[in-house]
Amino acid sequence: MRFFDLSQPLFDGCPNCHVHPPVRLPRTADHPQDGWRMEEFHMASHTGTHLDAPLHKMAGGASIDAYPLETFCGEPVIVDLTHLEAGHPIGPADLEAAGACSGKILLLNTGWGHKRAKTEEWIHRSPWLSPAGAEWVVEKDVRAVGIDHFSIGGTGNENAATHEILLGNGVWVIEELCFREGWREFAEAASFMALPLLVPGFSGSPCRAVLMKP
Ligand SMILES: [Zn+2]
Repeated sequence: MRFFDLSQPLFDGCPNCHVHPPVRLPRTADHPQDGWRMEEFHMASHTGTHLDAPLHKMAGGASIDAYPLETFCGEPVIVDLTHLEAGHPIGPADLEAAGACSGKILLLNTGWGHKRAKTEEWIHRSPWLSPAGAEWVVEKDVRAVGIDHFSIGGTGNENAATHEILLGNGVWVIEELCFREGWREFAEAASFMALPLLVPGFSGSPCRAVLMKP
């Protein structure tokens, strides 16, 4: 099996959602004085490339461990939206390029994964899936939707509505992907997989998102 990584790296102080605690991944033991090396994780569950379960937005919704692992593996449809201007709300007209995507995993490539830094532009100016776009996703029977920014709905007022439409209709969400050079060639006939950690009761989990094929 060959893999193409769509994940963002986690590191001490790495860029993350501005309303989450800062990412701290300190080294707490090291060679030679301790005889081993070890690091600690201090970060929100929605940090780096991660999955959102319905519980993230819906009280009483399913947690990330409620799903069989098969849920997070399937046929991807990657839509190239890198031509969109900053802050553009991604709506049905932008998504038509995806074609038929019933039962598939829809991945939105806005190019924002390449801007990952603690800047106003990265945090607040990404193209984002509008509530109308989220309705389109639900109507088309899309299984899951991903984007290369930490928030599928951006950071404005409509973020909550976009999350609620998706997660309230059983469409799971993957955020902070990165579409590196070569993704298009690899994506041909590839499957997508992003497995969460086994964290019972959690609203989301970091994951390793990949395209894969024999
Ligand atoms: Zn999230």
